[in-house]
Parts: sequence; structure tokens; C-alpha cells
Amino acid sequence: MARVLFVGGLGRSGTTLVERLLGELPSVRALGEVVHLWQRDLRDDERCGCGARFSACTFWQQVGERAFGGWGAVDVDRIQTLREAVERTRHIPRLAATSLPPAQRAEVREYADYYARVYAAAAEVSGATVVVDSSKHSALAHVLRWADDVDLRVVHVVRDARGVAYSWTKTVTRPETDGAEEMTRYSPGRSALLWNAHNAAFGLLARRGVAVRRVRYEQLLADPRQALRELAAYVDLPLTDADLAFLGDGHADLTVGHSAAGNPMRFRVGRVPLRHDDAWVRALPPGQRRLVGAVCAPLLRAYGYPLNPTAPQLNPAAPQEA
Ligand SMILES: [Zn+2]
Repeated sequence: MARVLFVGGLGRSGTTLVERLLGELPSVRALGEVVHLWQRDLRDDERCGCGARFSACTFWQQVGERAFGGWGAVDVDRIQTLREAVERTRHIPRLAATSLPPAQRAEVREYADYYARVYAAAAEVSGATVVVDSSKHSALAHVLRWADDVDLRVVHVVRDARGVAYSWTKTVTRPETDGAEEMTRYSPGRSALLWNAHNAAFGLLARRGVAVRRVRYEQLLADPRQALRELAAYVDLPLTDADLAFLGDGHADLTVGHSAAGNPMRFRVGRVPLRHDDAWVRALPPGQRRLVGAVCAPLLRAYGYPLNPTAPQLNPAAPQEA
């Protein structure tokens, strides 16, 4: 059974960085946002994190061979039909039930099985004991809860809602499309609502008995070594100091990975700075900052964020799971 570390959280919360850092650990293989593999890679043949088109990446071709006897055997239409039927945010209340009606249960398990096969094949091809799926979506984590053959552990990445909101207002192009497409943008009010819904969904997952470990993005950047040591222990991965040699003072040295899809940061190789981006404290207009702070107040408080920050500071004593 594949041991899967699912990196969850609302987009722009630092999930890609968490995945990249995890991918540098021995016996870990980071897969990117597997949720997008079907459309963006099988259909559109976008670029793998290694730079090659998906169809030209040796790693992913071996995974497809082992998981399905070749990607050509995968019915992408069927996966997309199942996804509509089971893996949408609106389905989370049903997925979080203690039991599912037989017909729905069959669909959930059929959909989850595609992921389980990819995880198992990726672990076999790479020789890794842990594979990382940074799909982020809480609905997919709720789906995977119903799979028998996935040893699921979730790392729930949270970032101050006001920093997330500011990030969603910025324009980012998607290099996979050679600059032709931009990533989605949201207004601060909209991203505040999404922040609440997605983060609450991971709290619900924890209450259903799934292993969920919360990591605050700001804390990860403040002490990446400690954060990675804790995450390695969480997935039962032995770690030595030498394994963290890729972390320097305020930076990380990243090697090439095979992320199937995700944030453009997945392509970065070499030295990347690890510093806290608190531009929002100055750049997010006060009215928007107050709006986001008010909408997200209960969870901000629960996660240990100050409600009226002049500079982002964390309450180190915040409880692990609300
Ligand atoms: Zn690749």
C-alpha cells in the first residue's frame, strides 16, 4: 500500500513550496497536483516539472505503464464524469458522512482507485516509500478517505488569509502554456470565503479520523528544518542532518522534480530564497484587509494569527487541531 502525503490547503498558501521541500527528502517522490494530471497531462500534454512534455517524461511513462498498462488505456472521459459526480467542494458534506449509499460509494471508490494506482506505481518506479500529492483540494482528500489501498496522511498548509487574499489579486502567467494563459484571480472578499471553506474542510477531515497535520506557512519559513523534521516524523521517515543539507541560511537548493501539474514554482531549480513574503501588510488596502480579517476571524484566531497585525506574528502556543 502506498504511503501518501497529501498536501492540502487553499491555493497561494505555500503548498507548492511544501511539496518541493518534501521532494528533496530521501525516499520521498513528489508528484505535483495529481488532480490535474488527467486533463493537463494526458489530454493537453503539458510540461512535467523536469521540463519535458508529459508524454516525453520517462518517469511518468513508466508510471502509466505500471499503473494502467500505458496511459492510452485510461478513460479520461470516465474520470472527468466521476470527478463531477464525487469530487467537488459541494460534495464534501456527503463525503464526510459516516457511511455512503452503495451507488455513491462505488463511484467514490472507482474514482479513488485511479489515484491509488498512480501512487502505488509512482512509489514502485521511483523506489520511494512516500509519495506526495499536492492536489490541495479538500474534496479529493475526502474522496481518498474512502480508498482501502491508500495509507493517507494529510498535511494541511495554512497561511494568513490576508496574505493569501493579496496573492490572489496578483497576475501570474502559466509557463506550461508558454505564457498564453494566466492563473485565476480572485477578489479579496471571494478568496476570504474560499479560505474559510477549504480550511474548515480539513478540520472536518481530521474529525472523521484521517491523519491531518497542520503547518503554518509562516512558521515553515521561520524554521524550515524543524518543520521538515516534524513532517518526516509524521510520515515515519527516518531523517539525518545530512538529509537536510539542501537547506541553507534563508534558502533551499532544489533539484529537478517530476511534478505533473501545479504552481509555476514547480519548475524552479537551484537556489530559492526561503523568506516570509509579508508584502500584503503594506500592499493590501486597509479596507480589504479588515474585510478579510473579519470574514476569517474565527479560523485566523484558531490557527494563532493576530487579528490586527502591524507585522505578521504567530502565536506559538496555538493548538494543533481546532
Ligand atoms: Zn518529468
